[in-house]
Amino acid sequence: MQSLYLTKPGHIELRETPIPPLGEEEVLVKVAYCGICTLEQRLYTGEREIHYPLIPGHEASGVVVEVGPKIMTNIKVGEAVALDLVNRCHACGPCLKGDTNLCENRFKSGQRVLGAFSEFVVVKPYQVHPVAPALPLEEAAFGEPLACSIRSLKRARLSLGDPLLISGAGTMGLLHLKLAKIMGLKPIMCDPDKERLKRAQKEGALTFTPEECLEGIKEVTGGHGVTASVVTTVATQAVEVAVNSLATTGTLLLYTSYGGELLYPFDLNEIHQRELTITGSEGRSGEDFRQAVRLLSNRTIQVNDLITNIYPLRGAEEAFKEALSPHSYRILIKMEGL
Ligand SMILES: [Zn+2]
Ligand SMILES: [Zn+2]
Repeated sequence: MQSLYLTKPGHIELRETPIPPLGEEEVLVKVAYCGICTLEQRLYTGEREIHYPLIPGHEASGVVVEVGPKIMTNIKVGEAVALDLVNRCHACGPCLKGDTNLCENRFKSGQRVLGAFSEFVVVKPYQVHPVAPALPLEEAAFGEPLACSIRSLKRARLSLGDPLLISGAGTMGLLHLKLAKIMGLKPIMCDPDKERLKRAQKEGALTFTPEECLEGIKEVTGGHGVTASVVTTVATQAVEVAVNSLATTGTLLLYTSYGGELLYPFDLNEIHQRELTITGSEGRSGEDFRQAVRLLSNRTIQVNDLITNIYPLRGAEEAFKEALSPHSYRILIKMEGL
């Protein structure tokens, strides 16, 4: 099979390797599409390192081609699936509590990580989520980013009609926005890029640049501020705006991860006197993923408009370059036809 290897930052190459052997309790999936997420972009630029050589790719969809003989679930050959490519031991403290996204053993060495920029991938039964047969496989590849956005908004402690600030109108910001709409929230998008704001406005958000944001939010919330601020961009200015736009007892949710250590000087009195909550959201649980797949399968959420371009596996170099451009949303790689 052909796989895309990242051999060092900025260097990718296609390699022919045998299809990995299938364990008795594993599933072999022929990968259809895989998106280039921020993690892959950071691995490509070297901003984030795991180990080399590595097959990146974790926002994937595909079709089941073989099922191990000891599989207990009903997964069948020929089923279309979204792939949840994270390791969950289902035995540690966080897993037993339901926070499988924080599994203590998810990065243990010897475990497979990522790996979906490849014609085939061998996975555990809990990593395959069947999708509706009518759902295009390129949209099924959004199971992972949508699941992460679902977890994020669950942690933001929102109720029907609550105003929500989303900072950063990229793919993740727009996925949060799509969810906010079906959750009956009042979404407000903040981004310095006017083109991106236009896009968010079309999608139903009130939009402001960071300079206009605080005044604008005051105006549209009757002076109270937003119930939660979700930060999906690494720009530190976004955090400042996000904190200052919160209503009393509001929640600041850091969705993005930052390259390296980042200390942010809050006025701690803001948190004390206004009873603010600061939290984050990391990945998604199996349940978040199941919900994402249901929303996609039921066509409650449409993600087709977030696909900027689709490249064949052999065009991966250009695909990564386009993914790094500030004007693109999701770039997908299509495995079939190479
Ligand atoms: Zn992702
Ligand atoms: Zn665990």
